[in-house]
Amino acid sequence: MSGAVHDVGMPRPSRPRSVALARDALATAVREALSVVSPVSCAGCHGPDVGLCDDCRRRLVPEAVRVDLPDGLPVFAGLVYAFEARGVVLAFKNGGRVRLAEVLAPALAAALESCARHGSHEAASAVDGGTGDRSLLVVPVPPSRRGRRRRGYDPVDLLLRRLGLVVGTRLLVPTARAGGGQKGRDRQQRLRGREGSLRATRDLGGSRVVLVDDVVTTGGTLQEARRALTARGAVVVGAACLAATPLRSGSGRP
Ligand SMILES: [Zn+2]
Repeated sequence: MSGAVHDVGMPRPSRPRSVALARDALATAVREALSVVSPVSCAGCHGPDVGLCDDCRRRLVPEAVRVDLPDGLPVFAGLVYAFEARGVVLAFKNGGRVRLAEVLAPALAAALESCARHGSHEAASAVDGGTGDRSLLVVPVPPSRRGRRRRGYDPVDLLLRRLGLVVGTRLLVPTARAGGGQKGRDRQQRLRGREGSLRATRDLGGSRVVLVDDVVTTGGTLQEARRALTARGAVVVGAACLAATPLRSGSGRP
């Protein structure tokens, strides 16, 4: 790295990547500090003087819903992504209010539990008579490089840590071609546009995997994650998400 420490704070057109990352981390720290010293509003309903009001807190009680993607992948979500719950998830995911991980983690835990139950049921009824390995590998969907830079943190990682699941080596990473704009494209174009945007970092022959993501909307990212893992031999039994959009939820039960 060529950037010296005193370069921080002196914007230049081609600043080194490490400086950009340091700045984003700083911005996150400042946002967090400000939320302590300045008047706060509820992350869910924007009511005054409280980070999360009791009404909104009650709306975060997990209600596990199941969604099946067009490719058949079962997705379990802990919250319906609407109204106050949507506000809280957005404040956590994009608003820098990382402390909300504490109140959101139970929803992801519920989704993981439903997904694991589904996974062990699948293993028990598998052709091999259920004698195979029933353990599941938890693989988070990585944020895009741009998203990670903008936020300075990884929401899925924070939730998993809160649940005591520390993600070690990344098994799924964005590729160099990831990050193309998807606006204005239809579903099929989006899916094709995403293909090849993720890759698995090692062979996963025989491993049974549960994907983890924050919000499922079209499910396109999950489908790409499944493609990338399956290409390296994994069996993806399902996905566990913090929240799912109303249109995509309610099509089944956990
Ligand atoms: Zn509220």
